[in-house]
Amino acid sequence: MKLSNRITNITKGGSDGWDVFYKARAMKDAGEDVIELTIGEHDIKTEEPILTAMYDSAMAGNTGYAIVPGMQPLREAIATRVQTRTGVETSFENIIVTPGGQAALFATHTAVLNPGDTALYLDPYYATYPGTLRAAGAIDLPIQTSPENDFQPTRAELEAHAKGARSLLMNSPNNPSGVVYSRETIEMICDVVRANDLWLISDEVYDTQVWTGEHLTPRAQPHMAERTLVVGSMSKSHAMTGSRVGWIVAPKDVITKLIDLSTCTTYGVPGFIQAAALFALEQGDPLEKRVGEVFRRRRALAQEALKGVNALHTVPSSGAMYLMLDIRATGLSGEDFALALLEAEMIAVMPGESFGKAAAGHIRVAMTVEDSRFVDALKRLATFAQSKIT
Ligand code: PLP
Repeated sequence: MKLSNRITNITKGGSDGWDVFYKARAMKDAGEDVIELTIGEHDIKTEEPILTAMYDSAMAGNTGYAIVPGMQPLREAIATRVQTRTGVETSFENIIVTPGGQAALFATHTAVLNPGDTALYLDPYYATYPGTLRAAGAIDLPIQTSPENDFQPTRAELEAHAKGARSLLMNSPNNPSGVVYSRETIEMICDVVRANDLWLISDEVYDTQVWTGEHLTPRAQPHMAERTLVVGSMSKSHAMTGSRVGWIVAPKDVITKLIDLSTCTTYGVPGFIQAAALFALEQGDPLEKRVGEVFRRRRALAQEALKGVNALHTVPSSGAMYLMLDIRATGLSGEDFALALLEAEMIAVMPGESFGKAAAGHIRVAMTVEDSRFVDALKRLATFAQSKIT
């Protein structure tokens, strides 16, 4: 029996540079001491009081079906956080709770796209983006950004594709590059979005992880709240990746329709998970700072460890838990470099090619191992890179 085009087109086959990841996992499973700097998963765990809140809620009987849009106190806490951080008026009616940012990415695109519509996104991109847009029935169209412009999109790049498209997906702080979009970039994106009557999906799951500069949401720009859907998540900000809890911020009428979609897809998020999320949000900035601090510290350690290594150029990664390194001076592709590094040093990094064409000749380093092991890995990586140019 033949499956639908929609589902068979989600992945287009081919490894897309993920061979290195699977190879590293296999080596680790075979007992080898591989240092994995691959995926965006904290090495620290969800804090215990959050787990206690989850347990207490479940033990108190909060194990039945939860209300689909999310319980009102949680929607209110998210709305308050959004309004406080962005200055844009936000009520619980602008919020729907979702099983993580990934479900929110799928729901937002399903909400704004008709089958066959063109959905734009910026390359390099988080690896699930093309598949998510195709799963939503769209034609996915990546827009190349360039390392020469520190992976910030330019007006010319956007305008070349915006006409006739229906949506644009952006992500700042960015995975994989770690780049945080400047005020000028955000204003320019909003200009192009308004001029071409696009929906804007803004993936802001790394909003608490900004090391220099500030996180700016396009939703705060003039006339953008009515056409912007923001994707948020507790995964990165609260080290709660496995809890699967996130949200969408959108105009009230869009949220009403998203509730219809959730009713016939996810049917909401478990009540005890929502209770834990509410508890975590109530801890406010100190908890978010504690979780983010680890990466701020490692980024500083990395800058020190990579100083003066001319085989590597560090993209100005001002946010998120990643460093993007330009290894083009070695003459290798990102994938060849990553495979050779894994074989020679048992250090696993992601090739830039795993995240689109724009980051070819780069590698992404996740800052997700303990400090001294991280610095040791970077120094060995630097020596390895240096050996390829001499
Ligand atoms: N968006 C970006 C840019 C990500 O890097 C991730 C996860 O790595 C997600 C969304 C999805 O996160 P989650 O579904 O855990 O909230």
